[in-house]
Amino acid sequence: PADSRLVLLGNPGVGKSALVVRFITKRFIWEYDPTLECTYRHTTMVDDENVSMEILDTAGKGESIHQEGNINWGEGFLLVYSTTDRESFEDIVNLHQHIASVKKTQNFSCVLVGNKNDLTHERKVGQEEAEQLAVDLSCCFFECSACDGGEAVDESFKELHRDVVRR
Ligand code: GDP
Ligand code: MG
Repeated sequence: PADSRLVLLGNPGVGKSALVVRFITKRFIWEYDPTLECTYRHTTMVDDENVSMEILDTAGKGESIHQEGNINWGEGFLLVYSTTDRESFEDIVNLHQHIASVKKTQNFSCVLVGNKNDLTHERKVGQEEAEQLAVDLSCCFFECSACDGGEAVDESFKELHRDVVRR
């Protein structure tokens, strides 16, 4: 078994698939089948230790029975919104509540991830309000770009892994 089971959740189009592909392959894929749901196995170094992760990239929106299965499977959740899409940000609270109701606890591992921050002229969600939401949800917050890559993409997955292992 892997050391952690991580799940990407968030509205369609926010860049979940692009993020996981960037994390695993260090590459950016412009078009990714939006209906494809896929689990990746990845080994990487976290704090000088070789660790294995299973990462589930979900598709579709909403609080379906199917999504409940995914939430039950997962130990840690990347709650992904797009900095260019206010609705995707506002839906994060509902998503968090939904996970809490499926897990029957508020105390689960998650990180808040604001993607597409390369699109500076299309920004609709401020960094401060996202930081505040992360405080409210008591989780870490990363703003990043699957397109540009960079440390924040890797760190969001690694920090979530750390949180799962700590708990
Ligand atoms: P998903 O539905 O959440 O899996 O979203 P996708 O990964 O399929 O991405 C949706 C669209 O947003 C695609 O056209 C991607 O090329 C684009 N996209 C994803 N991440 C970024 C990013 O960081 N920056 C930019 N500019 N586009 C992105
Ligand atoms: Mg996708």
